[in-house]
Amino acid sequence: MSTVLIIGAGGVGGVVAHKCAQNMDVFTKIAMASRTLSKVQKIAEDIGGNKVEPFQVDADNVPELVALIKKIQPALVINVALPYQDLHIMDACLETGVHYMDTANYEPLDVAKFEYKWQWDYQDRFKEKGLMALLGSGFDPGVTNVFCAYAQQYHFDEIETVDILDANGGDHGYPFATNFNPEINIREVTAKGRYFENGEWKETDPLSVHQTFNFEGIGEREMYLMYHEEMESLSKNLKGIKRMRFFMTFSANYLNHLKVLENVGMTGIKPVMYEGREIVPLQFLKAVLPDPASLGPRTKGKTNIGCIFKGTKDGVEKRMYIYNMCDHEACYKEVKSQAISYTTGVPAMIGAKMILTGTWKGTGVFNMEQFDAKPFMEELNTCGLPWKLRELQPDEAVVK
Ligand code: NDP
Repeated sequence: MSTVLIIGAGGVGGVVAHKCAQNMDVFTKIAMASRTLSKVQKIAEDIGGNKVEPFQVDADNVPELVALIKKIQPALVINVALPYQDLHIMDACLETGVHYMDTANYEPLDVAKFEYKWQWDYQDRFKEKGLMALLGSGFDPGVTNVFCAYAQQYHFDEIETVDILDANGGDHGYPFATNFNPEINIREVTAKGRYFENGEWKETDPLSVHQTFNFEGIGEREMYLMYHEEMESLSKNLKGIKRMRFFMTFSANYLNHLKVLENVGMTGIKPVMYEGREIVPLQFLKAVLPDPASLGPRTKGKTNIGCIFKGTKDGVEKRMYIYNMCDHEACYKEVKSQAISYTTGVPAMIGAKMILTGTWKGTGVFNMEQFDAKPFMEELNTCGLPWKLRELQPDEAVVK
């Protein structure tokens, strides 16, 4: 039915390729390209059966991308390279008349700031070309947006507050490693916290607001208020929303290492001179840290990511929790990856399926909550990320 081109052969890319190969009724031809050809070839070999065709591309080079897209002629490009490549890949999709999808919003290399503005600015160009760009089809952003849409469309008349909770109870046995691209992860964690309240954004010092929460499948963990990109679109698209926050768990060990690295300047993104050439400390740190794709065989434990809603239905106040638990070892068994890449790669495949089957249709640039949540929620249940929905009792303790 459709040819797809996956760009980026990292932890997430590997999962997307595996999951597309499990759904070849929709993805009849799968091409995959990345900067390092050997990484694509390794993924293609792991999947076997010549199901994935490997290519090399520098996704920062638009003419190179355009030439590759023209050669492969996909119906959709799934971008799971890094956020720095988003705009280049969108430009190439516009030039070749191909739909676009990603899992993380654009970030300039030299400014640690992520926001949708740059990609929302492509709205008219995608519309004029009759193309669709689906932004943020990972877990958070991605599934968290769909959980919010599902709550709004099927369970509430009005949602007053949303708390997005992201817990990783996984243990990889290293003193310090990040579960996805270290550069992106550390930029995110060391940024100021921000939450939405009464139409305004309130800022907090990095990791200064925290509390304990008991996560099913994991137990009690300390979770920290952070800014996270899905809140930008959700604060616009959820009717009547008064407060929205995002919390993520970190172990004391992780935070101690991070503090030291920060204190000695290793998390900086401004180039420094070293032996006659410029290096970016954070990029050098990435080079010496374990590759997230290598954590798969070592990681044990579960993730638990979900949303807690408070609002009203038929004039009655109600609270609800929708969440998914995912087991690191089970993910590795299925697709040779840990749960962080798995929980991102599966929704990326589902988002692609929504576009290619015409279940989600439209021209322009879209965030996930702008479509009917039900078909996506059904796919989550059958594609490896089953979710639970719990109505919370009035006396049940939730997030303070
Ligand atoms: P990795 O660093 O493991 O993989 C990124 C891949 O992109 C690498 O294979 C890299 O190639 C390739 N790449 C980088 N630059 C280029 C380029 N210029 N041209 C071609 N290929 C390039 O990252 P992850 O797999 O962990 O993450 C992938 C994406 O998923 C990121 O954007 C991340 O932010 C996002 N993400 C989203 C989540 C969500 O829930 N929404 C959660 C986790 C991640 P090479 O190896 O050769 O350098």
